[in-house]
Amino acid sequence: RLYNEVQELKGNIRVYCRIRPFLQGQNKKQTSIEYTGENGELVVANPLKQGKDTYRLFKFNKVFGPASTQEEVFLDTRPLIRSILDGYNVCIFAYGQTGSGKTYTMSGPSITSEEDWGVNYRALNDLFHLTQSRQNSVIYEVDVQMVEIYNEQVRDLLSEDVPDASMHSVKSTEDVLELMNIGLMNRTVGATTLNEKSSRSHSVLSVHVRGVDVKTESVLRGSLHLVDLAGSERVGRSEVTGERLKEAQYIKKSLSALGDVIFALAHKNPHVPYRNSKLTQVLQNSLGGQAKTLMFVQINPDEDSYAETVSTLKLAERVS
Ligand code: ADP
Ligand code: MG
Repeated sequence: RLYNEVQELKGNIRVYCRIRPFLQGQNKKQTSIEYTGENGELVVANPLKQGKDTYRLFKFNKVFGPASTQEEVFLDTRPLIRSILDGYNVCIFAYGQTGSGKTYTMSGPSITSEEDWGVNYRALNDLFHLTQSRQNSVIYEVDVQMVEIYNEQVRDLLSEDVPDASMHSVKSTEDVLELMNIGLMNRTVGATTLNEKSSRSHSVLSVHVRGVDVKTESVLRGSLHLVDLAGSERVGRSEVTGERLKEAQYIKKSLSALGDVIFALAHKNPHVPYRNSKLTQVLQNSLGGQAKTLMFVQINPDEDSYAETVSTLKLAERVS
């Protein structure tokens, strides 16, 4: 009975953990990940301890180990994507420290090979296939928006100088690839260093679907938000000053605001604190109510990331 209650309570929020493989050439020491189970269990080992205090157990809806492919990850995401066509609003986040694989999961390492595609391209590709296969009964329109949130300011990545994020009608996966290339170029880019600015902003790709039933002319709307969050690493006050300190404070504020919103939703609290950050304001309509939320908790397996890993897992556990 308790199990069912918990399921019901948290039915619209699920958390998947994904562990990045070791990267070649980095010459890191061994992993702090001791065990990943089919049932969503994950055990991490503290490299500085011995005996039974060494281990910590976490439990999620699902754990994807280092060998998991983009396709496997998408197979478990697809039912959510498809529910958009039934009129649901869906939010998918990637959360974790810089270098843990957030962008790999959401966008993928490259877009030239379909095998590499992350959740966002696969999701849109899947949506287009579905809408086309139903075109005799429902006529769909798909629009996308892409924004970046940096230091609590929202910036449109698809066109300049517009007060609100611009909407772009798309008819095929190719259209989407083209738009997303523009968006990625407009994103404050750089080499994949830890200081890269894109790791300190949130990027939000929004997909709006409107379906008109050919016979009844009834209209159904659904939306999908795909969010590559800013790096969650904690930055000590002593380490940074000036601009970096400001950025770090904004990131901390918005990630904890997001955590508070998801926590409030998971616990059915009457008050959901959406107003505390730009991120939660932008996503307000697709968090809560009938909306479905999926969080990818990204883990870097390196032993020297242990402290950051545990702090990431603890936050995720709070909402899952
Ligand atoms: P983040 O966006 O969290 O900063 P990235 O997605 O940029 O992290 O990943 C950091 C590095 O690790 C990149 O070189 C990326 O290609 C690699 N990487 C991440 N996840 C995987 C994975 N599942 N398989 C192989 N390489 C990965
Ligand atoms: Mg990234």
